[in-house]
Amino acid sequence: MTLSVPSPGVTPVDGAPHRPHAECYPVLLDGVMVGWVDKELAPSVAASLRHFKVLREKRIPPWMEVALVPITGKPSLYPGLFLFTTPCRLVRPVQNLELGKEELIGTMEQLFMNIAVFEEEVSAGVTTHQELFPHSLLSVIANFIPFSDHNQSPRNMYQCQMGKQTMGFPLLTYQDRSDNKLYRLQTPQSPLVRPCMYDHYDMDSYPIGTNAVVAVISYTGYDMEDAMIVNKASWERGFAHGSVYKSEFIDLSEKIKQGDDSLVFGVRPGDPRTVQKLDDDGLPFIGAQLQYGDPYYSYINLNTGESSVMFYKSKENCIVDNIKVCSNDTGSGKFKCVCITVRVPRNPTIGDKFASRHGQKGILSRLWPPEDMPFTESGMVPDILFNPHGFPSRMTIGMLIESMAGKSAALHGLCHDATPFIFSEENSALEYFGEMLKAAGYNYYGTERLYSGISGLELEADIFIGVVYYQRLRHMVSDKFQVRTTGARDRVTNQPIGGRNVQGGIRFGEMERDALLAHGTSFLLHDRLFNCSDRSVAHVCVKCGSLLSPLLEKPPPSWSAMRNRKYNCTVCNRSDTIDTVSVPYVFRYFVAELAAMNIKVKLDVI
Ligand SMILES: [Zn+2]
Repeated sequence: MTLSVPSPGVTPVDGAPHRPHAECYPVLLDGVMVGWVDKELAPSVAASLRHFKVLREKRIPPWMEVALVPITGKPSLYPGLFLFTTPCRLVRPVQNLELGKEELIGTMEQLFMNIAVFEEEVSAGVTTHQELFPHSLLSVIANFIPFSDHNQSPRNMYQCQMGKQTMGFPLLTYQDRSDNKLYRLQTPQSPLVRPCMYDHYDMDSYPIGTNAVVAVISYTGYDMEDAMIVNKASWERGFAHGSVYKSEFIDLSEKIKQGDDSLVFGVRPGDPRTVQKLDDDGLPFIGAQLQYGDPYYSYINLNTGESSVMFYKSKENCIVDNIKVCSNDTGSGKFKCVCITVRVPRNPTIGDKFASRHGQKGILSRLWPPEDMPFTESGMVPDILFNPHGFPSRMTIGMLIESMAGKSAALHGLCHDATPFIFSEENSALEYFGEMLKAAGYNYYGTERLYSGISGLELEADIFIGVVYYQRLRHMVSDKFQVRTTGARDRVTNQPIGGRNVQGGIRFGEMERDALLAHGTSFLLHDRLFNCSDRSVAHVCVKCGSLLSPLLEKPPPSWSAMRNRKYNCTVCNRSDTIDTVSVPYVFRYFVAELAAMNIKVKLDVI
């Protein structure tokens, strides 16, 4: 493409500009040098190009980018008039104030444009563009935060992280999917308080949480440090229930050498391992419950007639959700591949993670019986107890407003718009929702008198209680808990191996060591690092101090009366100098490695 517009002031690249090159800007179109433009004329050339672009005149495409990088005399981007017209560049719409029309701007030109966010920021002669909406500066997920302009900014950033970890309803085609792992919230709800972009992106088809009645109260000690108490009755009614879908492909053609297709799914008639558990096709029944050790699938070798049964290996019970029998991509396969999708129920348990939409995460600490929860005058029991210490330092005022807005929405049967930048000091959100609560007969500030569920007495303080949309996050204890007594060890160091799947240990590292040292608990330290790790008893020669030279005697002949074999130092050639010491096993390995490098380690045994 060539610059077909005869722009005034632009000299073609093969022509000579009227002024020295140092006083001209190079003109680049899609990265190709096309000419020179006079330093004084460049701004007006750029302006007229933009004019044509917005008004769609002179065949200038409306998605063109016009970036004039000025000569500043300081280190900066390379000066020039850069024009881009290629497809697939990121562009976004803003309002061109001069022409009163929407304009698509690109990533490079917006650095050199003056774009106002609010009407008041527009200063004549300087501001050329304005955002279509104040929330245009926010990303997709940031736009799902209600009243985000009332929050401390790091909290909004935390929510942008957590919004991606919600256990929601991400798609409508669970039956047709075969993802390794899919999460699903069983009882999702549409939020009562939502920003306009929530509807713009049709998130009601993909909801991410549940409206919960939240009381901000410190009740017992189970809500300390971001722990939260959940009403057990709410849980029994299905609060935040969910499941995980796990799919596994089983390809029989991978189980045997190529060319041989004698393996087929099926059961050997009368096989006691599979009777009543697997269908005749060798696959589990849809809807069957599987637990550890149950037959999972079975296949037969048609040549030999022998059958193989594979067993369900996960410790977690599951339900067979669906099974897809697959061919290959061209449809010419022999249906030797199946995809078994199982559903693992994952209802909330102690240790599961939740979060509101304001970066306020919390761990379920107790499922509290409803009769012991605090209750309101009308007898309502909250779903969640949130510790008030979570507010002062985090300053998530948006969550307080959401609570009041959610409460008034529930009382009046509304959905509230929570788009940021619609409330201000003059037109405050507190006033708006306070009046609304008052109109419904509730306290202006969203508080209520609560009664202790233990004693039945009225609590002295007014308790802030309202409706907050809570997300269930997909970090669950059942995926993370780790426990070990004894188990597998590393064959080189004899220390416990790591890893949750193999019942490994948890590393007691340098920082943990420092913590125990600081507490003076040296016996505990010794226990962790030695007795519970790779304690071993080694033979050492007291005379030469070697760990490597003591060797066990050869076994005596079978007719010999001698039964106890002795250790002998192969260097000193005597056995009365052998003693035993407790050393970490890895130390013996270390000594052996040093010996391989011709370094002798001598132990002084006292
Ligand atoms: Zn010796």
